[in-house]
Amino acid sequence: MNFNFKDQTVIVTGGTRGIGKGVAEAFLQAGAKVIATYRSDANAAQDFLESGEQYEGRLTVRQFDVSEHNEVVAFFRYVEENFEHFEILVNNSGIRRDSVVGMMPVDDWNDVIRTNLTGTYHMSKIAVQHLMRQKYGRIINITSPISRFGFPGQANYAASKAGQEAFTRSLSKEVASRNITVNCVSPGFIDTDFIADLPDDQKQQYLSQVPMKRFGTVEEVARAVLFLADRDSAYVSGAVLEITGGL
Ligand code: NDP
Repeated sequence: MNFNFKDQTVIVTGGTRGIGKGVAEAFLQAGAKVIATYRSDANAAQDFLESGEQYEGRLTVRQFDVSEHNEVVAFFRYVEENFEHFEILVNNSGIRRDSVVGMMPVDDWNDVIRTNLTGTYHMSKIAVQHLMRQKYGRIINITSPISRFGFPGQANYAASKAGQEAFTRSLSKEVASRNITVNCVSPGFIDTDFIADLPDDQKQQYLSQVPMKRFGTVEEVARAVLFLADRDSAYVSGAVLEITGGL
Protein backbone atom coordinates (compact mmCIF):
# COMPACT_ATOMS: atom_id res chain seq x y z
CA MET A 1 0.00 0.00 0.00
CA ASN A 2 1.47 3.35 -1.03
CA PHE A 3 0.37 6.24 1.16
CA ASN A 4 0.00 9.82 0.01
CA PHE A 5 -0.22 12.58 2.63
CA LYS A 6 0.70 15.48 0.37
CA ASP A 7 -1.02 18.70 1.55
CA GLN A 8 -1.52 17.28 5.05
CA THR A 9 0.29 18.35 8.23
CA VAL A 10 1.11 15.88 10.97
CA ILE A 11 2.12 16.48 14.61
CA VAL A 12 4.16 13.66 16.16
CA THR A 13 5.02 14.02 19.86
CA GLY A 14 8.31 12.41 20.80
CA GLY A 15 8.94 12.50 17.06
CA THR A 16 12.71 12.94 17.04
CA ARG A 17 13.79 9.54 18.38
CA GLY A 18 12.68 5.91 18.33
CA ILE A 19 9.19 5.01 17.14
CA GLY A 20 8.12 8.65 16.81
CA LYS A 21 11.05 9.40 14.51
CA GLY A 22 10.15 6.36 12.38
CA VAL A 23 6.57 7.60 12.17
CA ALA A 24 7.71 11.13 11.28
CA GLU A 25 10.01 9.80 8.53
CA ALA A 26 7.25 7.63 7.06
CA PHE A 27 4.92 10.64 6.84
CA LEU A 28 7.67 12.76 5.27
CA GLN A 29 8.30 10.04 2.69
CA ALA A 30 4.57 10.06 1.95
CA GLY A 31 4.65 13.81 1.22
CA ALA A 32 3.33 15.30 4.49
CA LYS A 33 4.57 18.29 6.43
CA VAL A 34 5.67 17.05 9.86
CA ILE A 35 6.06 18.82 13.20
CA ALA A 36 8.15 16.47 15.37
CA THR A 37 8.30 17.40 19.05
CA TYR A 38 10.62 16.39 21.89
CA ARG A 39 11.19 17.27 25.54
CA SER A 40 14.90 17.26 26.39
CA ASP A 41 17.19 15.51 23.90
CA ALA A 42 18.14 18.54 21.80
CA ASN A 43 21.02 16.68 20.10
CA ALA A 44 18.72 13.97 18.74
CA ALA A 45 16.31 16.65 17.56
CA GLN A 46 19.07 18.60 15.80
CA ASP A 47 20.43 15.41 14.16
CA PHE A 48 16.96 14.57 12.88
CA LEU A 49 16.41 18.07 11.57
CA GLU A 50 19.73 17.97 9.70
CA SER A 51 19.02 14.51 8.27
CA GLY A 52 15.63 15.83 7.16
CA GLU A 53 17.05 18.41 4.75
CA GLN A 54 16.10 16.13 1.87
CA TYR A 55 12.43 16.79 2.72
CA GLU A 56 12.58 20.35 1.36
CA GLY A 57 11.55 22.24 4.46
CA ARG A 58 8.62 19.94 5.31
CA LEU A 59 10.15 18.95 8.69
CA THR A 60 9.82 21.23 11.73
CA VAL A 61 11.10 20.36 15.20
CA ARG A 62 9.70 21.92 18.42
CA GLN A 63 10.58 21.44 22.08
CA PHE A 64 8.03 21.32 24.91
CA ASP A 65 6.78 19.03 27.67
CA VAL A 66 3.43 17.33 26.91
CA SER A 67 2.72 16.99 30.63
CA GLU A 68 2.70 20.79 31.09
CA HIS A 69 -0.62 22.25 29.96
CA ASN A 70 0.77 25.77 29.49
CA GLU A 71 3.53 24.47 27.21
CA VAL A 72 1.00 22.54 25.14
CA VAL A 73 -1.14 25.67 24.78
CA ALA A 74 1.92 27.65 23.63
CA PHE A 75 2.83 24.91 21.14
CA PHE A 76 -0.61 24.97 19.50
CA ARG A 77 -0.45 28.77 19.35
CA TYR A 78 2.80 28.37 17.40
CA VAL A 79 1.13 25.82 15.10
CA GLU A 80 -1.82 28.13 14.49
CA GLU A 81 0.49 31.05 13.65
CA ASN A 82 2.78 29.09 11.36
CA PHE A 83 0.63 26.42 9.69
CA GLU A 84 -2.68 26.95 7.94
CA HIS A 85 -4.02 23.63 9.13
CA PHE A 86 -3.11 20.24 10.53
CA GLU A 87 -4.97 16.99 10.04
CA ILE A 88 -3.15 14.35 12.07
CA LEU A 89 -1.94 14.12 15.68
CA VAL A 90 0.18 11.16 16.81
CA ASN A 91 0.47 11.04 20.63
CA ASN A 92 3.64 9.00 20.81
CA SER A 93 5.76 10.56 23.58
CA GLY A 94 6.11 8.25 26.55
CA ILE A 95 8.30 7.22 29.46
CA ARG A 96 8.83 4.25 31.80
CA ARG A 97 9.85 4.43 35.47
CA ASP A 98 9.82 0.80 36.56
CA SER A 99 9.52 -0.56 40.09
CA VAL A 100 7.18 -2.81 42.02
CA VAL A 101 4.22 -0.98 43.52
CA GLY A 102 5.33 -1.42 47.14
CA MET A 103 8.60 0.38 46.37
CA MET A 104 7.39 2.82 43.73
CA PRO A 105 8.22 6.46 44.50
CA VAL A 106 5.18 8.72 44.23
CA ASP A 107 7.07 10.86 41.71
CA ASP A 108 7.57 7.84 39.42
CA TRP A 109 3.86 7.10 39.50
CA ASN A 110 2.98 10.72 38.81
CA ASP A 111 5.61 11.30 36.09
CA VAL A 112 4.46 8.30 34.05
CA ILE A 113 0.75 9.11 34.33
CA ARG A 114 1.35 12.81 33.63
CA THR A 115 3.49 12.16 30.56
CA ASN A 116 1.72 9.20 28.97
CA LEU A 117 -1.92 9.77 29.92
CA THR A 118 -2.32 13.42 30.90
CA GLY A 119 -0.03 14.41 28.00
CA THR A 120 -2.37 12.59 25.61
CA TYR A 121 -5.32 14.50 27.08
CA HIS A 122 -3.50 17.88 26.89
CA MET A 123 -2.60 17.37 23.22
CA SER A 124 -5.93 15.88 22.17
CA LYS A 125 -8.02 18.53 23.93
CA ILE A 126 -6.61 21.38 21.86
CA ALA A 127 -6.22 19.32 18.69
CA VAL A 128 -9.89 18.30 18.61
CA GLN A 129 -11.00 21.92 18.91
CA HIS A 130 -9.15 22.60 15.63
CA LEU A 131 -10.16 19.30 13.98
CA MET A 132 -13.85 19.76 14.90
CA ARG A 133 -13.90 23.18 13.19
CA GLN A 134 -12.18 21.61 10.20
CA LYS A 135 -14.63 18.67 10.21
CA TYR A 136 -11.81 16.25 9.50
CA GLY A 137 -8.95 14.69 11.41
CA ARG A 138 -7.04 11.68 12.67
CA ILE A 139 -5.67 11.10 16.17
CA ILE A 140 -3.47 8.08 16.83
CA ASN A 141 -2.27 7.21 20.32
CA ILE A 142 0.69 4.89 20.81
CA THR A 143 -0.17 2.48 23.61
CA SER A 144 1.17 -0.94 24.63
CA PRO A 145 -0.19 -4.47 25.02
CA ILE A 146 1.01 -4.20 28.63
CA SER A 147 -2.30 -2.38 29.14
CA ARG A 148 -4.03 -5.75 29.07
CA PHE A 149 -1.25 -8.17 30.22
CA GLY A 150 0.27 -6.16 33.03
CA PHE A 151 3.96 -6.72 33.80
CA PRO A 152 5.48 -6.81 37.28
CA GLY A 153 7.36 -3.58 37.92
CA GLN A 154 5.33 -1.61 35.37
CA ALA A 155 2.01 -0.90 37.11
CA ASN A 156 2.33 2.84 36.48
CA TYR A 157 3.17 2.31 32.82
CA ALA A 158 0.44 -0.35 32.31
CA ALA A 159 -2.15 1.91 33.97
CA SER A 160 -1.13 4.86 31.79
CA LYS A 161 -1.44 2.78 28.61
CA ALA A 162 -4.79 1.25 29.64
CA GLY A 163 -5.93 4.79 30.40
CA GLN A 164 -4.88 5.98 26.94
CA GLU A 165 -6.94 3.18 25.38
CA ALA A 166 -10.05 4.01 27.44
CA PHE A 167 -9.54 7.70 26.62
CA THR A 168 -9.33 6.79 22.92
CA ARG A 169 -12.61 4.89 22.94
CA SER A 170 -14.48 7.73 24.67
CA LEU A 171 -12.99 10.50 22.53
CA SER A 172 -13.66 8.55 19.33
CA LYS A 173 -17.38 8.61 20.15
CA GLU A 174 -17.37 12.34 20.92
CA VAL A 175 -15.92 13.34 17.54
CA ALA A 176 -17.14 10.63 15.15
CA SER A 177 -19.83 12.81 13.56
CA ARG A 178 -17.15 15.32 12.45
CA ASN A 179 -15.17 12.82 10.34
CA ILE A 180 -12.52 12.52 13.01
CA THR A 181 -11.20 9.10 13.93
CA VAL A 182 -9.30 8.30 17.14
CA ASN A 183 -7.37 5.03 17.36
CA CYS A 184 -4.44 3.35 19.08
CA VAL A 185 -1.43 1.58 17.67
CA SER A 186 -0.09 -0.83 20.25
CA PRO A 187 3.46 -1.99 19.50
CA GLY A 188 5.03 -5.04 21.10
CA PHE A 189 8.76 -5.01 21.82
CA ILE A 190 10.42 -2.52 19.50
CA ASP A 191 14.17 -2.06 19.65
CA THR A 192 14.56 1.62 20.63
CA ASP A 193 16.22 3.56 23.47
CA PHE A 194 13.00 2.91 25.41
CA ILE A 195 14.04 -0.65 26.22
CA ALA A 196 17.82 -0.16 25.88
CA ASP A 197 18.29 0.00 29.67
CA LEU A 198 16.70 -3.43 30.28
CA PRO A 199 19.14 -6.18 31.33
CA ASP A 200 19.98 -8.63 28.51
CA ASP A 201 18.39 -11.57 30.34
CA GLN A 202 15.12 -9.62 30.67
CA LYS A 203 15.21 -8.76 26.95
CA GLN A 204 15.80 -12.44 26.14
CA GLN A 205 12.88 -13.37 28.37
CA TYR A 206 10.64 -10.87 26.54
CA LEU A 207 11.88 -12.17 23.19
CA SER A 208 11.05 -15.77 24.16
CA GLN A 209 7.39 -14.71 24.56
CA VAL A 210 7.14 -13.30 21.03
CA PRO A 211 5.82 -15.96 18.61
CA MET A 212 7.82 -14.39 15.75
CA LYS A 213 11.01 -14.56 17.88
CA ARG A 214 12.23 -11.09 17.04
CA PHE A 215 11.68 -7.50 18.11
CA GLY A 216 9.64 -5.29 15.79
CA THR A 217 10.99 -2.32 13.87
CA VAL A 218 9.92 1.30 13.96
CA GLU A 219 9.05 1.03 10.27
CA GLU A 220 6.55 -1.75 11.04
CA VAL A 221 4.88 0.43 13.67
CA ALA A 222 4.90 3.46 11.36
CA ARG A 223 3.08 1.51 8.66
CA ALA A 224 0.18 0.86 11.05
CA VAL A 225 0.06 4.53 12.02
CA LEU A 226 -0.09 5.63 8.38
CA PHE A 227 -2.83 3.09 7.69
CA LEU A 228 -5.02 4.57 10.45
CA ALA A 229 -4.16 8.13 9.37
CA ASP A 230 -5.16 7.49 5.76
CA ARG A 231 -8.33 9.25 4.53
CA ASP A 232 -9.67 5.91 3.32
CA SER A 233 -9.48 4.39 6.83
CA ALA A 234 -12.54 6.51 7.64
CA TYR A 235 -14.61 3.71 9.22
CA VAL A 236 -11.96 2.59 11.74
CA SER A 237 -12.34 4.42 15.05
CA GLY A 238 -11.94 3.55 18.71
CA ALA A 239 -9.75 0.61 17.70
CA VAL A 240 -6.46 -0.73 19.04
CA LEU A 241 -4.22 -2.08 16.27
CA GLU A 242 -1.56 -4.36 17.76
CA ILE A 243 1.83 -4.70 16.06
CA THR A 244 3.35 -7.35 18.27
CA GLY A 245 4.64 -10.28 16.23
CA GLY A 246 1.69 -12.28 17.53
CA LEU A 247 2.19 -11.59 21.26
P1 NDP B 1 11.97 6.58 23.15
O1 NDP B 1 12.42 6.61 24.57
O2 NDP B 1 12.94 6.12 22.11
O3 NDP B 1 11.41 8.03 22.74
C1 NDP B 1 10.48 8.68 23.56
C2 NDP B 1 10.17 10.04 22.99
O4 NDP B 1 9.19 10.68 23.83
C3 NDP B 1 11.37 10.97 22.95
O5 NDP B 1 11.35 11.74 21.76
C4 NDP B 1 11.16 11.88 24.16
O6 NDP B 1 11.74 13.17 24.03
C5 NDP B 1 9.65 11.99 24.16
N1 NDP B 1 9.15 12.40 25.47
C6 NDP B 1 9.26 11.75 26.65
N2 NDP B 1 8.67 12.45 27.63
C7 NDP B 1 8.15 13.57 27.05
C8 NDP B 1 7.44 14.69 27.55
N3 NDP B 1 7.11 14.82 28.85
N4 NDP B 1 7.08 15.66 26.68
C9 NDP B 1 7.40 15.57 25.37
N5 NDP B 1 8.06 14.52 24.83
C10 NDP B 1 8.45 13.55 25.68
O7 NDP B 1 10.67 5.66 23.14
P2 NDP B 1 9.99 4.78 21.97
O8 NDP B 1 10.17 5.46 20.70
O9 NDP B 1 10.42 3.38 22.12
O10 NDP B 1 8.48 4.84 22.46
C11 NDP B 1 7.53 5.70 21.87
C12 NDP B 1 6.16 5.30 22.37
O11 NDP B 1 5.92 3.94 22.08
C13 NDP B 1 5.97 5.47 23.88
O12 NDP B 1 4.67 5.98 24.14
C14 NDP B 1 6.07 4.05 24.41
O13 NDP B 1 5.31 3.88 25.58
C15 NDP B 1 5.48 3.28 23.24
N6 NDP B 1 5.89 1.88 23.19
C16 NDP B 1 7.20 1.53 23.01
C17 NDP B 1 7.55 0.20 22.94
C18 NDP B 1 8.96 -0.26 22.71
O14 NDP B 1 9.21 -1.47 22.85
N7 NDP B 1 9.89 0.59 22.37
C19 NDP B 1 6.54 -0.87 23.09
C20 NDP B 1 5.18 -0.38 23.28
C21 NDP B 1 4.90 0.94 23.31
P3 NDP B 1 13.36 13.37 24.20
O15 NDP B 1 13.96 12.87 22.93
O16 NDP B 1 13.55 14.82 24.37
O17 NDP B 1 13.77 12.57 25.39
